[in-house]
Amino acid sequence: MQIAVIGTGYVGLVCGVCFASFGNKVICVDADAHKIDLLNAGRIPIYEPGLREMVEQQSGEGRIHFTTSLGAAIPSADVVFLTVGTPSQPGGQADLSFVYQCASAVAKHVRGHTVIVLKSTVPLGTAEEIEAIIRSERAAGSWSVASNPEFLREGAAIADSLRPDRVVIGSEDERSRNVLARLYRPLRQQGVPIVFTNRRTAELIKYAANGFLATKIAYMGEIADLCEKASAEIRQVALGMGLDRRISEQFLHPGPGYGGSCFPKDASALVATAHQFGASLRILPSVIASNDARKRAMVDKIVESCGGSVRGKRIAILGLTFKPGTDDVREAASLVIIPKLEALGARVRAYDPVGMEQARKALPRLRVAKNAYTCTRQCDAVAILTEWEEFRNLDLDRIKAGLRSPVVIDLRNIYEPVDMARRGFEYTGIGQPSLSKRPAMRTADELPSVLASRRSITREPEAAHLRKKMRADA
Ligand code: NAD
Repeated sequence: MQIAVIGTGYVGLVCGVCFASFGNKVICVDADAHKIDLLNAGRIPIYEPGLREMVEQQSGEGRIHFTTSLGAAIPSADVVFLTVGTPSQPGGQADLSFVYQCASAVAKHVRGHTVIVLKSTVPLGTAEEIEAIIRSERAAGSWSVASNPEFLREGAAIADSLRPDRVVIGSEDERSRNVLARLYRPLRQQGVPIVFTNRRTAELIKYAANGFLATKIAYMGEIADLCEKASAEIRQVALGMGLDRRISEQFLHPGPGYGGSCFPKDASALVATAHQFGASLRILPSVIASNDARKRAMVDKIVESCGGSVRGKRIAILGLTFKPGTDDVREAASLVIIPKLEALGARVRAYDPVGMEQARKALPRLRVAKNAYTCTRQCDAVAILTEWEEFRNLDLDRIKAGLRSPVVIDLRNIYEPVDMARRGFEYTGIGQPSLSKRPAMRTADELPSVLASRRSITREPEAAHLRKKMRADA
C-alpha cells in the first residue's frame, strides 16, 4: 500500500517506519522543515531506541521518504494517517487546531480511494468533525475517515508498534475497515487482537485507557504516602498487590507523579469531553489534583531531606526526562521541581543521558553536567528524578566521595535503603519508612517461620513447600 503519515513526531515517525517494514511505501510529512532536513540527511530528530537503525534500513530499501509537501504524499496514498500533536488548552480540553489544519490541507490533495485515519489522540466525535471539514472543502475522490488510536510507549515504541497488545480500528464503513484490516494483517497473523468498533468507541478506548493508567499511578503515589506515615514498605505492598493477576504488577511503582506527553493532557481532556457530553467523571479530577500535588510534594521532600531549607545549597538532579528511554521532557517532574528548588534559593545542576537538549528548551538557564559524577561533585544533595539504567549502575562510593554531604533523595526507589545506609548515605526513598521502622525483608528461609507464627502453620512440610515456592518465584 501507499501510505502518507502527516506529522513526523514520536508517533508519526515510529508508525511510518513500522508500516514501511511491513512492505508498504511510506511518505512522512511534517510542517517542520528542519526536522525533514535532518531525516533526509540520515539523522533522527528524537531519541528512541532502535529507531535510527530501522529508519536507515527502510530508507536504504526505498520504502520510506520524508517531505514537507503534502502534494507529494497525499494524492497517491491509499491511507493517510494524521499523527499531529493534540496538546492541552488552558481549560484542559484538547487543542485540535493541528488536526483541523491537517484535515483542510489533506482535503485539497486527496484523490481516488483514500482512507483518512486519525491516529492522534482526539476527543469523542472528532472523526465526525474531520469528515465535515473535508466535505466542506469539497474534496475530490472517494474518501472516508476512520479512527485508529495509538498506544505505543516512548522508550519501547518500536516493540510496541511491532507487537502491540491490541490494535483498535474505529470505522463507519466497510471499505475503510477492510483497508485497515489489510494494513494490519502482518500483526493479525502474529496473533495481535484487532478490536473493530465504531469511531467514537475507538476514540474513547484511548482516553479511557490512559485515564485508567494515570489513576493507577496516582493511587500508588497516595498509598506510598501512607506507607511513609505508617511504617509500611511500598515496594512490598506493590509486590503483594501485583501478584494478583486482576491488578498486574505494571504501573505500581510510585515516583514523583506521572508526566509525559500523554497522561496529563489525556486525563484533562477526558474530563473536559465527559463534561461536554453531560457526564460527570468524579474519579479522574481527583487523580489530576493528586498528581499535581504530588509533584509539589516532591519539592518538600527534597527540602526536608536537606534539613528544612535548600537556600544556598547545591542540588544535583539526575534525570530530566519523564521516563527512561526517551529524550521527551513534556510534563516531566523535573520541569516542576527544578524551578521550585531554584525559587527556594537552591543552586541546581542537572544531568540526563539523553534529555538535556530538550530540557534546556524548557529551562533555558538550566546548568547541566557531562555525567553523573561531575553533576554531583561538591553538591549538598542528589535527587534522582528518572530511573535511567545508568543511574542504577553508578559507582556510589565515587558519588559519595564527591558530595559535600551524602544526602540522596531517590524519587524512583532505584537504590536499596539498607545498602545506601551501609555506604554512609542519608537516604530517602518513596513510600519507605525510616530504617529503624522498616519491616524486615524476609528471606526465603525465614518467611515460612514468620507465616507459621502468624497463621499457626506448624508443620515443617508446609514450611518447606513455601520455601521452595519462594525460591522458584525469586
Ligand atoms: P509530536 O509533537 O512529537 O509530533 C507532532 C508532529 O506534527 C510535529 O513534528 C509537528 O511539527 C507536526 N505537525 C504539526 N502540524 C502539522 C501540519 N499541519 N502538517 C504537518 N505536520 C504537522 O507529537 P507525538 O508525541 O508524536 O503525538 C502525536 C499524537 O499521538 C498526539 O495526539 C498524542 O497524544 C498521540 N500519542 C502520543 C504518544 C507518545 O508517546 N508520544 C503515544 C500515543 C499517542
